[in-house]
Amino acid sequence: MKKILTANISGGTKISGYEALKKTLSMRPEEVAFMVERSGLRGRGGGGFPAGLKWKFLPQNSRGTIYLICNADEGEPGTFKDRHIMEFDPHLLIEGMVIAAYAVGAKQGFIYLRGEYGWIAKFLPKAIDEAVREGLLGDNILGSGFSFYIDVFRGAGSYVCGEETALIESLEGKPGRPRLRPPFPGTNGLYGKPTLVHNVTTFSCIPFIIQNGPDAFKAASSTGRGGTKLFSISGHVNKPGLYEYPMGTSLRELIYEAAGGIKGGKELKAVIPGGLSTPILRADEIDVSMDFDTLAAVKTMLGSGGIIVMDETVSIPRVAQKAARFYAHESCGQCAPCREGTAMIKLLLDRMVNGQGEQDDLDQVMRLCRYINGSTICAFGYAVSLPIAAMIRKFRNEFEALLENR
Ligand code: SF4
Repeated sequence: MKKILTANISGGTKISGYEALKKTLSMRPEEVAFMVERSGLRGRGGGGFPAGLKWKFLPQNSRGTIYLICNADEGEPGTFKDRHIMEFDPHLLIEGMVIAAYAVGAKQGFIYLRGEYGWIAKFLPKAIDEAVREGLLGDNILGSGFSFYIDVFRGAGSYVCGEETALIESLEGKPGRPRLRPPFPGTNGLYGKPTLVHNVTTFSCIPFIIQNGPDAFKAASSTGRGGTKLFSISGHVNKPGLYEYPMGTSLRELIYEAAGGIKGGKELKAVIPGGLSTPILRADEIDVSMDFDTLAAVKTMLGSGGIIVMDETVSIPRVAQKAARFYAHESCGQCAPCREGTAMIKLLLDRMVNGQGEQDDLDQVMRLCRYINGSTICAFGYAVSLPIAAMIRKFRNEFEALLENR
């Protein structure tokens, strides 16, 4: 794994961690916010929204309550980057949260932790206690007069709670269902107060930006935009794992150099580039730069950076069926196109894969994908429809063969 951003490894101040926090406290909050804005940092959870712009939605110079939330509800299939940071470098996350809190004027922060990450729930509070003991968190941080507190909240295993408004609902003790927007969390978030929500990895980029400057962050990418990116590579590769590479590294390089190529000398068939909810790429489409804009231009997404590699033995209809089952199970049921549409897609793909499909089933699935697209409360609708439609578009012959051989 290439280490580029981890300038503040855990261990408190003992091995020069929290230097960025010290620098932050010598600056004015608006200077800190300006550095983050200039760095071009974009949300690492999947959406890719510019972090500096998100900070601007919050009330400026307000004396009212502002909350900070770290979205650690890492549930996107194929993704395991946040887990790694929280497990091996929790102080990097804490430092990033304190810096962001100082910049936006938040006094209270929460880490919303994925329910399944039970072992992290045990030691994350220990890291928080260490930071408090060292005067890096809590009352009067490093004698600056600024105070900030972090509590850990454990989710209950719902995929949808990774959506920031569902996460806020859950944190308030309600069922984790996404809210209609607007209003956005920047003005009406937790308990109706302005709230800044970022992913674990987004917060963890901030210390590097403050310590080394926005230009150094930009220069760490191969496109001059966006620092580095953690890629979780899984599936049929020789060395599955988590890799930190410059943003904009080619997908081919990640698969064949970082992850050691396809296992057992087999041929590559397809790749899901950014977690299950991003549209699939064929083997002949992997000479693509892994950054937000390039992937959008080829009609997929960088998403969470969870790269799922599939060799020639994989049946794409079965992948679509598994995805549909997952989404049908995880839909919160709040809006009809998603609730009914995902259940129907699952049913149709189940019967196709089981050899009982009807001739019209494939077109029916495509129609449902179109109906769901853009007609739901949250982005879950896109997460279901775009990847499944892309699998059918790019590997239609495999689906048709199932219908012919029923
Ligand atoms: Fe719930 Fe699905 Fe509607 Fe999102 S799109 S609010 S997950 S039913």
